[in-house]
Amino acid sequence: MSFLKIILRNLRKGPATDPYPFGDTFTPDGLRGKIKYNPQACVACRMCEHVCAGGAIRITEAEDKSGLNFTLWHNTCAFCGLCQHYCPTKAIRLTTDFHTAHRQADKYNYVETGFIKYVACRRCGQPMVPVVKELLSRVYGDLEGPTKAFENLCEGCRRQISTESGVNKRWTEESKR
Ligand code: SF4
Ligand code: SF4
Repeated sequence: MSFLKIILRNLRKGPATDPYPFGDTFTPDGLRGKIKYNPQACVACRMCEHVCAGGAIRITEAEDKSGLNFTLWHNTCAFCGLCQHYCPTKAIRLTTDFHTAHRQADKYNYVETGFIKYVACRRCGQPMVPVVKELLSRVYGDLEGPTKAFENLCEGCRRQISTESGVNKRWTEESKR
């Protein structure tokens, strides 16, 4: 094919590249972009903070001790995906939004934040991070009994109830022998 024919064919076909940044562009499903955090599904286990390769995540107690603040700095994030991989409740996930370019002066505005409000344990009244259904359904599946029984009970009370019910069961079994 002559060079002239190639030029004419390409002119007829039009541009072969994306119009970005003047128009939309394609992003593959697996692209690791900006991070979305859902405080309603978070159990404050701090695993994401622990595994974060870039040290981009901080979970700190609010000054008035009413809950926990979650902060993630996108300018420090390496988009490695470890936080999403290790999060037990899928409260943190990477999106395909790659628009992270910003001026140096704006770096503290490129954050993802969230707040987990403490609730009172329904047994002892201690302030606690709510036990979210994402965690309970992961532990107990569709079992409504235990899911309801452990709702909004602090760690200590859950442990105590589990131990007591275990001891009672064992005692009943022993007494039948
Ligand atoms: S993607 Fe990696 S670097 Fe970014 S917040 Fe998650 S663990 Fe940290
Ligand atoms: S986002 Fe996930 S890994 Fe991070 S503290 Fe919450 S539950 Fe744990």
